Amino acid sequence: MVQNAIHHITAIAGPAQRNLDFYTRVLGLRLVKKTVNFDDPGTYHLYYGDEAGQPGTILTFFPWAQAAPGRLGVGETQETVFRVPEGSIGYWTQRLNEKGVVNEAPRTRFGETVLAFEDPDGMRLALVAVPGIENEPAWTTGDIPADHAIRGFHSASLLVENAAPTGAILTDIFGFTEIGREGSRIRYKAGDMALGGIIDLNAPGGLPRGRSGAGTVHHIAFRAASDTVQADMVKKLMQNHGIRATEQKNRDYFRAVYFREPNGILFEIATDDPGFAVDEPASSLGQALKLPRFLESKRERIKAVLPKIA
Ligand code: ZN
Repeated sequence: MVQNAIHHITAIAGPAQRNLDFYTRVLGLRLVKKTVNFDDPGTYHLYYGDEAGQPGTILTFFPWAQAAPGRLGVGETQETVFRVPEGSIGYWTQRLNEKGVVNEAPRTRFGETVLAFEDPDGMRLALVAVPGIENEPAWTTGDIPADHAIRGFHSASLLVENAAPTGAILTDIFGFTEIGREGSRIRYKAGDMALGGIIDLNAPGGLPRGRSGAGTVHHIAFRAASDTVQADMVKKLMQNHGIRATEQKNRDYFRAVYFREPNGILFEIATDDPGFAVDEPASSLGQALKLPRFLESKRERIKAVLPKIA
């Protein structure tokens, strides 16, 4: 079965505790994995998602106390957008105001109500009201009732100089279709994928390039149902677009390849399997510090470097 949509989005944050507080306690996501950046094990890699951390719900961070702020610009993910039930925008507006979260008045985009706000590092987020999802399972916290809880990703907006070549990757490699245009945005949709099945390419023109740092997205990952599907995508990327992906890297919870799309945004293709319950029980995801096998012998040294978070 073809499942082309967002798998996860990975961003850079400031202090880990502040990041954890915001995503679990303000937005009510579940911390589904507490591990380290496999390429830089002195830094956490925190994964937030729904109860199981299924693809299309996962937002991850490399938090870094000393991270300099990034600057949003061309060649970056502009906005990460979650789904909430249709009647929930009022609830969230009030909640964000109570928690002192910078937010904008709700507006309409492609006929949907969008509530845009920022995380403590200035990363741009939004909630979109989606009809008919209030009965979908939700991860609930004491604080946020199931009626209003976030239900995974709605979409991501990518800020580009020239939409055409990125659009070609979305359609040819990931199976998206252009479904509409509004202002400087072109909307692409992946079949009937409910979770993370929408990408907006926004090309307003005349903006400087972005600079990586706290509050910016590091990469966006798209789903591949299997290694074979991933390998076919890699082959097609080279054949049809002249773009070479990295070799496959084992990230324990998925297997990934990476490439820069024509506007400079780092794309990943991640397998759906094996998921987050591969190294700890589904009921206690995110509680223990999990390390890949090649770092297990360095556990004590790594723990001594990482800030304590709870
Ligand atoms: Zn990734």
